[in-house]
Amino acid sequence: MILIQNFLSAKIQFLKGVGPANAAKFNKLGIYTIGQLLQHYPRRYEDRSTLKLIGELTDGLYESFRAVVINVSDLKSHRGLKIIKITVRDQSGIAQLTWFNQAYIKNKYKPGMELIISGRIQRRLTMLEVNKPDIELAAEFNASSGRIIPVYPTTEDLPQWRLRALIVQALKLFQNVATQEAVESLPADIIAAHKLLNRQQAVINIHLPANMEILVNARRRLVFEELFLLQCGLAYLKQKTKSGLKGIKHAPDGVLVSKVEKSLPFTLTNDQLKALHEIKADMEDTTTMQRLVQGDVGSGKTVIAAIALTKTVESGYQGAMMAPTEILAEQHYHTLAQLLTPQGITVAILTGKLTRRARDKIIQHFKEGVIDIVVGTHALIQDDVEFAQLGLVVTDEQHRFGVRQRARLEAKGNQPDVLIMTATPIPRTMALTVYGDLDVSVIRELPPGRQPIATYSRSNSRRNKVYLFAVEQIKAGRQVYVVCPLVDESDKVAAQSAVKMHEELSATFFKNISCGLLHGKMKSQEKDAVMASFSCGEIKALIATTVIEVGVNVPNATVMIIEGADRFGLAQLHQLRGRVGRGEYKSYCILLSDNTNEETVERLTIMTQVNDGFVLAEKDLLLRGPGQFFGTNQHGLPDLKIADIVRDTDILLEARRAAQQTICSAAYLDKVWKTLQDWFGEKFNMIFCR
Ligand code: ADP
Ligand code: MG
Repeated sequence: MILIQNFLSAKIQFLKGVGPANAAKFNKLGIYTIGQLLQHYPRRYEDRSTLKLIGELTDGLYESFRAVVINVSDLKSHRGLKIIKITVRDQSGIAQLTWFNQAYIKNKYKPGMELIISGRIQRRLTMLEVNKPDIELAAEFNASSGRIIPVYPTTEDLPQWRLRALIVQALKLFQNVATQEAVESLPADIIAAHKLLNRQQAVINIHLPANMEILVNARRRLVFEELFLLQCGLAYLKQKTKSGLKGIKHAPDGVLVSKVEKSLPFTLTNDQLKALHEIKADMEDTTTMQRLVQGDVGSGKTVIAAIALTKTVESGYQGAMMAPTEILAEQHYHTLAQLLTPQGITVAILTGKLTRRARDKIIQHFKEGVIDIVVGTHALIQDDVEFAQLGLVVTDEQHRFGVRQRARLEAKGNQPDVLIMTATPIPRTMALTVYGDLDVSVIRELPPGRQPIATYSRSNSRRNKVYLFAVEQIKAGRQVYVVCPLVDESDKVAAQSAVKMHEELSATFFKNISCGLLHGKMKSQEKDAVMASFSCGEIKALIATTVIEVGVNVPNATVMIIEGADRFGLAQLHQLRGRVGRGEYKSYCILLSDNTNEETVERLTIMTQVNDGFVLAEKDLLLRGPGQFFGTNQHGLPDLKIADIVRDTDILLEARRAAQQTICSAAYLDKVWKTLQDWFGEKFNMIFCR
C-alpha cells in the first residue's frame, strides 16, 4: 500500500525528462503527480494496426503507411513561415509530409530512411499531402504490440508525443510497483462477480490497448471503479447520517394533521399522496429523514411541506423552512400562514429586511418555543438564531444553497428530520450521483385542470407580432414577462442587457404600459418592491434577467417572452416557462431566436412539443452533457474522470447496486473515503460533508 501511494503521489518531475519548464506545461493540464498523469485518459484512439500503401490512402481519413524518404527541403512561404517538406515513396506512389515553423524536423530525417507515417490524408492537385504527421522509424516499429495509439487532450505547447512518452514511462514504473504490491482498489468478490479486468491490466490497456476488445474492457473496469467508489462513499454517508445519533421519532398523525388536510381546498394528487406517505413514514421512524422531493413547478410541493411541518408541530417540535430569495420566502410564508394559522399554528417570517428590534423579538420567540414554524432566507442560519426544539427543516430549491448552509440550519436542532424540495427535475442517473445519499420522492403529476402552456419558437423577423400579441394580452388585463438574453454568467453584464431592453421596450411596444425592471444587481429591497408591484398588477410587463427563474408566483401573468432563447438550456427554459400558466388563463411562452444551428433548433423545437420537465431534463442532459446541466459549478456534481453518466447509465446502475449490496469492511470504507477525498479535492466537502 505504501509503495503505490508514494508512487502515485510522486511529482511528475520524478520522471526522466521532466524539468521545471516541462512540468509547468503538464501543470496546465492539471497534472502534477504521476497518479494524475495516469488518470489523464485518452480522448480517442487511432488504429495504426493496419498499414496501407500510398496508392490506397483515402482523402480526409486518418491513416498509417510505410514509406522511404526521398527528399527533404525547406522553403519560406510568402507570409514568412518556414515550411519543411519531406517527400516519401513506396512501390505505389509518392506523398508529401509538411510542417510549418518546425525547423528541427529538417535534420531529423534523411533520404533513405524508412518511416511509419500516420496522419490525416489530404489530396492536393499533384500528390497526397500529410500535414504534421506522427512519425516512427520503421526499424523501431513493432507491429505486434500496441498499435492502437492513444490521443490525449493536450495544449498547444505540449505535443502528443511528449505526453505519450511520459505516460509510457510512468506505466513501466507502475508495472514495476504492481509486481511488488497489490494495486487493486476493488474487493476481489466484486471483480469476480462483475467480470472486471484487474486494475493493473485496466490502467495499462486504457493507455496502450493491445486490441479493441481489451480496450472496451479496460474502460468498463475503470468506469465501474469510479462509480463504485463514488456510490460506496454515498452509501457510507447515508449510513453515517442515519445511524449513529438517534433522530426524532414523530408521532403518528393526530387531529391537527387531519384538520389541516381536511381544510385543503382541493384533493391531493396521487403523486402528492405518495410523497406525503413516504415523508410521514420517515418522520415517524427514529432515524433521521434525509428526503428530496423533486417536482416540477406547480406540482404542489408547498402544501406537502405544510403538512410535514404541521406534523412536527403536532409532535411538539418546531419547523423551519428556508428559501433562497426573499420573494420566495414571503410567498411561502403567506401560503403557510393562510393554511395553518386557522388551525392555531403560529407562523413567522425571518428575512434580512426586518428591523433589528423586530428580528430580536422573533428570535426570542423561537427560543421560547412560542413560534411553531418559521419561514426565512439565509437569515435563518445566522449564529444567534436558536430554536427551542427544532424537529423538521425544509429547504426549498436546494441547489441554490451550499450544502454547508443547509447543514448549518440542521445543526440548530438535535438531528432534525430534513426535507429538501427542488423544482429542477433532474434526470434519474444524475440524481443518483448528485443526491445518491438522499431518499427521493418524485411528484410527476400536475394538479388536474392545468392547461399546457402553448409554446412557440419564433425568429426575430416576427418579433413585432410577438410583442403586439403581448400588448393585446395586457389590454385584456393580463401580465407579461420578458426575459433578456443570457449574455454571460456575470450578473453585471446581464443587468446591463436588461436595462437596455427595458429602455427599448418602454419606448416602443410598451410605450403606454407600466414596465418594471428586475435584475441581480438591484438591492434586494428594490427587487422586492418591483416584484410586489408586479404581483398586485400595478406593473404590467416585467423585463428581467433569470432572477425570476425561481418560484415566483403571479397567476395573472400569461405571457413569457424569452429573448435570445438559444442561449438557455432546456431545463432553464422550462423553469422560466413555469412562471406563467399558474392561474385560470390560457398561457403562452414565446422563444425568440435567430440561431439556425441544428442542435439549437432541435432544442427549441423540443420545448414547443414537450411540457413535462422530467422528459426535458433527460433531453437536456443528452444534448448538452452533465457539465452544462446546472449551468454553474456550484451544484456538487462530481467531476468524473472517465465515467459519463449519460453514456454509462448501465454501469452506473450496476455499480450502485453493487455498492449497496456489498458489505464492505470498515477498513475498506476508510480507504474509499480517502480515495474520494484525493479525487475530488475541494469539491469533496460539497459532495460528502452534508
Ligand atoms: P410548487 O411549489 O411545486 O411549484 P405549489 O405548491 O406552489 O407548487 O402549487 C402550485 C399551485 O397549485 C398552488 O396554488 C397550490 O395551491 C395548487 N395546488 C397544489 N396541489 C394541488 C392539487 N392537488 N389540486 C389543485 N391545486 C393544487
Ligand atoms: Mg415552489
